[in-house]
Amino acid sequence: MFCNQCEQTAQGTGCTVKGVCGKDENIQSLQETLLYALKGIAAYSYHSRVYGERDEDVDAFMHEALFKTLTNVDFDLNDHVKLALKAGEMNYKAMELLDKANTGHYGKPGPVEVPTGTVKGPGILVTGHDFMDLEELLKQTEGTGINIYTHGEMLPAHGYPELKKYKHLVGNYGGAWQKQKKEFPAFGGAVLATTNCVQIPTDEYRDRLFTIGITAVEGVKHIESRKDFSEIINKAKELGDLPEAPGKPLTTGFHHDIVLSLAPKIIEAVKAGKIKRFFLIGGCDGAKAGRNYFTELAEKVPDDCVILTLACGKYRFNHMDFGDIDGIPRLIDLGQCNNAYSAIQIASALAEAFECDVNDLPLSFAVSWYEQKAVAILLTLLNLNIKNIRIGPTPPAFITPGVFQVLQDNFDLKLIGDVDEDLAAMMKGE
Ligand code: SF4
Repeated sequence: MFCNQCEQTAQGTGCTVKGVCGKDENIQSLQETLLYALKGIAAYSYHSRVYGERDEDVDAFMHEALFKTLTNVDFDLNDHVKLALKAGEMNYKAMELLDKANTGHYGKPGPVEVPTGTVKGPGILVTGHDFMDLEELLKQTEGTGINIYTHGEMLPAHGYPELKKYKHLVGNYGGAWQKQKKEFPAFGGAVLATTNCVQIPTDEYRDRLFTIGITAVEGVKHIESRKDFSEIINKAKELGDLPEAPGKPLTTGFHHDIVLSLAPKIIEAVKAGKIKRFFLIGGCDGAKAGRNYFTELAEKVPDDCVILTLACGKYRFNHMDFGDIDGIPRLIDLGQCNNAYSAIQIASALAEAFECDVNDLPLSFAVSWYEQKAVAILLTLLNLNIKNIRIGPTPPAFITPGVFQVLQDNFDLKLIGDVDEDLAAMMKGE
């Protein structure tokens, strides 16, 4: 299975990625791709369901696709490619549904400057993707003197009206998930992990880390229900005050409706040559070497270009000052990885305004891929026939050269390379 800790595909008993089960390795690769995408779709659907939202088509596809991996032994490569693209279509629906669930429950997010660092008083840091866990914790800590901080993929919570109304949601601490072993001990308070992308803790902070819901880590206290956060609240009180140590603020909260309200200004700036190109740089981050590419790329994007970003990959550059072009921010944080839905809405609206295909827009994609949701999102982009996407730092471990070739042939999918060469090519729309 793909390993969340070392970014390697573990080989050996039970691992079929290299075709040791005897299946054609390309078929096997596509089935693995499908399974990872299903896990990503399941994650989004799980979050939506908590708010009472579900999509019959997505549910039906989950059954069909899983059944197919069991049944489809006819080694039909094209059939498997079609199924993988259908997973992309279903992931689009799952992301759309989650956007509906989140905005229905918490209101439409708006741009916000989020303080970082810590303020004096006991604190709980919330990591992961589950806004409802955060909301319930905010309710139960109101008036207790405990401050709540976001970490990683929770940062966009600050943009939602019904979450930011809590005064003790004081800021964000830290960055992407792979830094947890450094950042959680340094934080000093209690930590709540709500979803995947939680690392096995060191002894330094194991006793003040708590998991909830779908998340569980051996040796770590699991909170059984979000109706009762008393254990973590008591732990935060016991740990005492965090220091007054402010950091540099971060900006988030650019829902597509907000970006689209700027559309006339954006279109005017593009027509006047003030905005030359848009770059979507973001995705799932990880610890492996080569990911500095995304930092460097963001740094080198010319001043007359706008960067759209999302997911935890943004922490590589969201602390930098990118300024604006005629009041349009040069760095637009769309939110969590599922807000790839927002990126698609923006791209579609621009294509409509310019009366062209999305592939003819001055828009380039550089996506850092890591885990299951990233696979699902990549398939969504491919299913929308978006070409010339660059992914990295390495090809997904379960994608065989044969399957990668199919994706290259059909979608001009590229691996990241030299930053300067890639940037020059992207500026030419390649
Ligand atoms: S963006 Fe991807 S890698 Fe990052 S926390 Fe979310 S699921 Fe994990």
